[in-house]
Amino acid sequence: MLIIGLTGGIGSGKSTVAELFRQLGIPVIDTDLISRQLVEPGMPALEEIKSSFVNVTTSAGELDRLKLRQVIFDNADKRQQLENILHPRILDEVKRQLSELHSPYVIVVIPLLAEKGKWGFIDRVLVIDCDEQLQFQRTMKRDNQDKEQIQKIIKSQASRQQRLALASDIISNESDLDYLEQQVMQLDNEYRKMASN
Ligand code: ADP
Repeated sequence: MLIIGLTGGIGSGKSTVAELFRQLGIPVIDTDLISRQLVEPGMPALEEIKSSFVNVTTSAGELDRLKLRQVIFDNADKRQQLENILHPRILDEVKRQLSELHSPYVIVVIPLLAEKGKWGFIDRVLVIDCDEQLQFQRTMKRDNQDKEQIQKIIKSQASRQQRLALASDIISNESDLDYLEQQVMQLDNEYRKMASN
């Protein structure tokens, strides 16, 4: 099975593109969703996080993602510590899900692929590309967060050039949704052909 790693910055259109592939019958594995499920109450990863980080849970014992994000934002050691807890588990879960799938190809959404790059089993990297201004506008409209926060996130992520340098395939998301869909349909054809060779 051909394994496509889909990546892009915040607001670039990853979820939108993933949904378009789903509509074509292609399975999508979402590492963001997996990382959220891994820290639900009762999960071993949450217990490890609680013992390594102070004050990152709510009074109900749930992970306070905002607090955790603040702790790791400008602390590389803590960020590494969190990654050591989560990354192997995410990888195991992706592999488990892959082993249950039967499809010519599969999409694995990995938002931080360009930042991390520890995904040896991926055959091709598909980058969703758009300029930072559009990323910013779309994220503002979607998330209702403050301007500075979104700018900070965009700045902290890999640059457009760093991401494009990894790309086997590129979807340009600077136009309308029809054009996005056309590009997905074309890639779907190409991936099916590649998978059958
Ligand atoms: P990501 O998953 O990369 O953060 P999303 O797929 O959620 O990005 O897209 C960000 C926002 O922009 C969403 O609200 C989405 O509906 C919207 N969007 C994405 N692509 C387009 C497009 N081509 N035209 C208009 N809106 C778009």
